[in-house]
Amino acid sequence: MADYDYDLFVIGAGSGGVRASRVAAAHGAKVAIAEEYRVGGTCVIRGCVPKKLLVYGAHFAEDLKDARRFGWNVPDCDFDWAVLRDNVLAEVDRLNGAYTHTLDNHGVEIVHERATVSGPHEVTLASGKTITAGKILIAVGARPAVPNCPGSEHGITSNEVFHLDALPKRVLIAGAGYIANEFAGIFNEFGSKVTLINRSDVILRGYDEQIRDRLLQISMTKGIDFRFHAEFRGIEKQADGSLKVSMTNHEPLEVDLVLFATGRVPNTEGLGLAEAGVELDAKGAIVVGADNRSSVDSIYAVGDVTNRVQLTPVAIREGQAFADTVFGNKPTIVDYSCIPAAVFSHPPIAGVGLTEGQAKQKYGSVRVYTSDFRAMKNVLANRNERALYKMVCEADSGKVLGLHMIGPDAPEILQAAAIAVKAGLTKADFDQTVALHPSMAEELVLMK
Ligand code: NDP
Repeated sequence: MADYDYDLFVIGAGSGGVRASRVAAAHGAKVAIAEEYRVGGTCVIRGCVPKKLLVYGAHFAEDLKDARRFGWNVPDCDFDWAVLRDNVLAEVDRLNGAYTHTLDNHGVEIVHERATVSGPHEVTLASGKTITAGKILIAVGARPAVPNCPGSEHGITSNEVFHLDALPKRVLIAGAGYIANEFAGIFNEFGSKVTLINRSDVILRGYDEQIRDRLLQISMTKGIDFRFHAEFRGIEKQADGSLKVSMTNHEPLEVDLVLFATGRVPNTEGLGLAEAGVELDAKGAIVVGADNRSSVDSIYAVGDVTNRVQLTPVAIREGQAFADTVFGNKPTIVDYSCIPAAVFSHPPIAGVGLTEGQAKQKYGSVRVYTSDFRAMKNVLANRNERALYKMVCEADSGKVLGLHMIGPDAPEILQAAAIAVKAGLTKADFDQTVALHPSMAEELVLMK
């Protein structure tokens, strides 16, 4: 390795790349990391973090209303989008600084340029400089996919949504996955009229059906419109600046903002990978083995660019495993079983393990336990919104195969319960634990 400029050159300073480079450096490697935009990546700069802060901001709409039932004389309140937006963006700046600081502290050199692969051990920077490295790690993530339709340039994606000058009165969100449902909740709470359109009639594919249905029903009650089997025909900008969206099977709709939330594609275009012999799949994702190594021995990849599980904590684990394996003499394989996930909709959804449908497919018969309840706070607030917890168990052993929830704070509650599911505990183990009363989480040990 001594013949190379660096032991490791990482392309992309998001969650996976930053973790890999700082751990590799801590193991003694000479590391550089290239980032063409801002250190921190999708999660920190234009994803999970600013989104969660908007979710908190949006929730005040309901909290302020509910507070009156709890005795607070809350006057009619205005919402100032610019204040929240600027505070959120300032927090993003702070985190961007913290990530940069972490890399500096670990002696990782940051190259603020686009880098492309020009050989198994060589990268070329936008400035034309070439750099050699013993190993190259690709951690460039993914970017929003925009449907190909006339006028699609008038829509925005999650990249731009955090920077809006003003709150739109009417929003059309395309897609019915994570981003669509999260932003439907956010805009709806802020007072925008939200219509969500999707090409199929399934929202949040992959989540448990009963839980998805509950979200759909609650979202509709809150005033969000859904249009299914609707594929984009085109977007026309009107003289007054509004957007006329035409779609299959439905009347055209006039809105002020179109947000595309129709999945993400790996950022491998123009990166020199295919030329260097790195195998890509049909979606352009880098094909890697369990050790994160690509078809070229010296080139590895972690995170969304590999299109395995598109979640930040997974990318971080992959980055850590790569660095420990390659530079720490500690071979590590990421365990992808029982990964908890959440949708920060209003109310949020969280789940771990198999859905009822998946479990039935795999095991034939399963036992399902549910608790369908109204949180105490919602009862006093006169908020007719029910939570649903669902446990899917192996029929004979009672082992919990999956746990799925929708309701206030579901992600906070599920993270703790996911430990028990991952540990292979049974329904009986849950039931042996005395309920913590009064709480919502106690329903986990009281399911029928
Ligand atoms: P998702 O994969 O969650 O959902 C994509 C949606 O777009 C689906 O409803 C899908 O429809 C629809 N769709 C896909 N392709 C097209 C197309 N060509 N034309 C029209 N509609 C289309 O994607 P998101 O963009 O919401 O999120 C991307 C990823 O980011 C997620 O998969 C997730 O891994 C991650 N993420 C995680 C979050 C979290 O952990 N809370 C939050 C946000 C993002 P159909 O299902 O009918 O095929």
